[in-house]
Amino acid sequence: MSIKVRMGQQKKIALVAHDKRKKDLLDWVKRNREVLGTHFLFGTGTTGTMISGETNLPVATFKSGPLGGDQQIGSRIIEGDIDFIVFFWDPLEAQPHDPDVKALLRIAVLYDIPCAMNIATADFLFTSELMKEEYEREIIDYGNRIRREF
Ligand code: PGA
Repeated sequence: MSIKVRMGQQKKIALVAHDKRKKDLLDWVKRNREVLGTHFLFGTGTTGTMISGETNLPVATFKSGPLGGDQQIGSRIIEGDIDFIVFFWDPLEAQPHDPDVKALLRIAVLYDIPCAMNIATADFLFTSELMKEEYEREIIDYGNRIRREF
């Protein structure tokens, strides 16, 4: 059993990068500026401000990641207001908000959100025909799994 959630042709994309991956994300955004301009963009505070400042793309920003921005993105996924993530996290350095990052990635999997966490995945996703089409995500109905007995 699953619950279907429709994604429109215009995706609601969250852009996030840890400090040592910000330049990689910015370069990737510049290469994909045209297609990104056809979607709705969101970002954690520093990443989003950097991207809008460097590219003039409109990016709605949340708090900075260490101040709760990742959690805000997670809550927007739950509400249905974000349906796509490009998150270049740093595989070589622990972050003060690592629990928040883990929570965001868990929610993203739970809600069947496409997630690109490195350049190659982002390239593959963004060249998919599905980027231009409506799509129905399938959220597994975990009702039975989480039913608890007292
Ligand atoms: P930042 O947050 O864009 O505010 O740097 C990113 C993160 O660490 O999640």
